[in-house]
Amino acid sequence: MKKRIAVLGATGSIGRNALDVVREGRDNFEPVLFSANSRAAELFALAAEFPGAKIAVSGQPAAAADTDGIDGKRVYQGRDGLLAAIRDCGAELTLNGISGAAGLEPSLAALESGSALALANKESIVMAGALVLETARKRSLPVIPVDSEHSAVFNLLRAREEDALDEVLITASGGPFRTWSAEALEKARPGDALAHPTWKMGAKITIDSASMANKGLEVIEAARLFSLDADRIKVVVHPQSVVHSMVRMKDGAVYAQLSSPDMRLPIHQALYYGETAPSPWGRLDFDDLSLTFERPDTERFPMLALAYGALRAGGHYPVAYNAANEYAVSAFLGGKIAFTGISAVCAAVLEADWSGGAEDLQAIVEADHKARRAAEALLSNGQY
Ligand code: NDP
Ligand code: MG
Repeated sequence: MKKRIAVLGATGSIGRNALDVVREGRDNFEPVLFSANSRAAELFALAAEFPGAKIAVSGQPAAAADTDGIDGKRVYQGRDGLLAAIRDCGAELTLNGISGAAGLEPSLAALESGSALALANKESIVMAGALVLETARKRSLPVIPVDSEHSAVFNLLRAREEDALDEVLITASGGPFRTWSAEALEKARPGDALAHPTWKMGAKITIDSASMANKGLEVIEAARLFSLDADRIKVVVHPQSVVHSMVRMKDGAVYAQLSSPDMRLPIHQALYYGETAPSPWGRLDFDDLSLTFERPDTERFPMLALAYGALRAGGHYPVAYNAANEYAVSAFLGGKIAFTGISAVCAAVLEADWSGGAEDLQAIVEADHKARRAAEALLSNGQY
C-alpha cells in the first residue's frame, strides 16, 4: 500500500527536497496534494507528473497565464482553498514546508483532518506549540520534526529510557557571519547574508541563520516539542553542520546524530515514519573529516538571547519574537533596514507586555498581527 502524502510548500526548498525523496521512493508514496503560494506554473508541472494529486495555490499566481495552465483540473485557490484542499485530500501524512506564520493554520487543518504531520514549518510550534501538540494528541497522531536538529533529537531520544535525558545540545552552523566583527555586521547586505556556508535554503530562513534567529526559533521549538525548560537547551556552534544535534544523559553520556548536511535525510525519515527505509541521502565520509565546536556569541548575535528571553517569559512573547522577526527580515531584504536593525526592532517589540496570552488560535493570530504592526510603527519612525 502506498502512503498518501500531501506536500505543502511544494515549490520551496523543503518542498523540492521532499520531491526528490518522493521520486526516489515512487513505489511507496501516492501524492494527494501539492501546494504553493505564487509559483503556480511549477505546481502545474507537478500535477502533470503526479496526475492523482490535488493542487492548491494560496496566493496570487506569479503570472496571470498560470491559472489556465491546467486542463480541467480544479485548482484550490486562496487561503481558504488551501485549508479546504488539506481537508479534502485524504492524506495520511502531511509535510508542511510552508515558510513563516502562514504555516500554522495548515498544520492544524492537517491534524484536524486526521493526517500525521511532518513539520518543517517551525513557526507552527514556536507560535502555538501547545495547541498543535494537543490537537495531535487528541487524535493520537504523530508530529514528526523535519528541522534537522529536532529530527536528530527526536530520533536520539528513542535510544534511551524516557527519564534519562539531562539536556539537549542544538548545533548551529554559525551562518555566514560567524567570524564577522560587530562593525562589519552593521554594514552587511542581503547578498552577504544569503550566502550560507553549508545549507541551501529559502531566503527567510537563510537570513535567520545569519542573525541566529533561526537558532532562537529552534530553541523555542525544542522546548515545546520535547517539553523542556530553557535551561535544558544549549546551543553549540558547529560550523561543519555534520552533527545535527546531541543529547546529554543524566549518566553523562552524550549521543549525537551525524550526516552530511542534506535536508533530504530528515525529510526521508519523516516521510517513512514508523519504518526504516534505505536512503542515499546525507551519507557521511569519515576520511579527512574534522569537526569543531564553539560557544555562541550572543553579543554579536542578540537574536539568540532574545529567543531565550521570550521562551522564559512565556505567554505570547515567542509569537511576538517570531512576528517581529518576520517583519524585520522582509524589511532588511527590501533594503529598508540594516542587518543589525533586525535584532534592534525585535528587541523593541519585545519591550511591550506579551504575557498572559491565551493559547487559542484567534488570540495567537491577533498577537502575531499586533507584533507586526508594532514593528511596522517602529520602522515608519525611521529609527532603524
Ligand atoms: P521557501 O521560501 O524556499 O519555500 C516556502 C514555500 O512555502 C513555497 O512553496 C512557497 O510558495 C510557500 N509559501 C510561501 N508563503 C506562503 C503563504 N503565505 N501561504 C502558503 N504557502 C506559502 O522556504 P523553505 O523551504 O526554506 O522553508 C520552509 C519552512 O521550513 C520554514 O518554516 C523553514 O523555517 C523550515 N525549514 C527549512 C529548511 C530548509 O532547508 N530550507 C530547514 C529546516 C526548516 P511559492 O514558492 O509559490 O512562493
Ligand atoms: Mg534547523
